[in-house]
Amino acid sequence: MLIDRWAGRVPKTIDELVELPGVGRKTANLVVTLGYGKPGICVDIHVHRICHRFGWVRTKTPDQTERVLRDKLPSAWWIPINETLVRHGQQVCKPISPICSVCPVDRDCPKKGVTRRR
Ligand code: SF4
Repeated sequence: MLIDRWAGRVPKTIDELVELPGVGRKTANLVVTLGYGKPGICVDIHVHRICHRFGWVRTKTPDQTERVLRDKLPSAWWIPINETLVRHGQQVCKPISPICSVCPVDRDCPKKGVTRRR
């Protein structure tokens, strides 16, 4: 499809990228931000989960979270939020049992939906 439709080039917009088989908004946002330096918010499962725990969003899917963040999040954070929260989610704010005792935002985090923590 890249060869037939885009002359072998990777499209530069999210709308065009999501037409490619297997490409969702998470990947499309990653391509436009890291590949082309354009604005975008890559929301994976870590970003989605942690934004819920922060109380920033109440959404069902990462795609919905991305749309809310586009309204709420200052643009300076659109690109860095992914790496920041992915790393935080892998090391501290883990899916099943977050390690709140070592978390730098423990005092300020409302811990929405967290039932078990360390
Ligand atoms: S305080 Fe706990 S729930 Fe909140 S961000 Fe930190 S690890 Fe996650």
